[in-house]
Amino acid sequence: MSDLLERLRGRGWRMTSQRRVVAEVLEGDHVHLTADEVHARAAQRLPEISRATVYNTLGELVSLGEVIEVVTDGRARRYDPNAHHPHQHLVCSACGTMRDVSPTGSPLADLPAEERFGFTVSGADVTYRGLCPACIRRPGA
Ligand SMILES: [Zn+2]
Ligand SMILES: [Zn+2]
Repeated sequence: MSDLLERLRGRGWRMTSQRRVVAEVLEGDHVHLTADEVHARAAQRLPEISRATVYNTLGELVSLGEVIEVVTDGRARRYDPNAHHPHQHLVCSACGTMRDVSPTGSPLADLPAEERFGFTVSGADVTYRGLCPACIRRPGA
């Protein structure tokens, strides 16, 4: 469970009603929302919230390291509050639904020395692709 609001309170983040709504929308597990989705959900709770406020708040949460940006397969950038637990992503090729997964073994450690070409390797991202249960059941999928 992402405890984004708690983390932000803990670090004394200035919590206006607009900023709080953005953080609330991102609260939860397996949350990967585009900026437009964050705005749409935030506007359901606070109709006057502007797109600019949402974008600025997201940018700030990313620079604080409390939200990570996820880009896969040329889809729109998503915002992920699961920022403190290294994880990989399982993505539905049809609808784009995304799950956080923790494969056994580490993609970073699994790269053999002779495949590193003298690089200092500091990170690795793995995307698992397939069809989610809803898309498997969808006629014509
Ligand atoms: Zn799907
Ligand atoms: Zn994630």
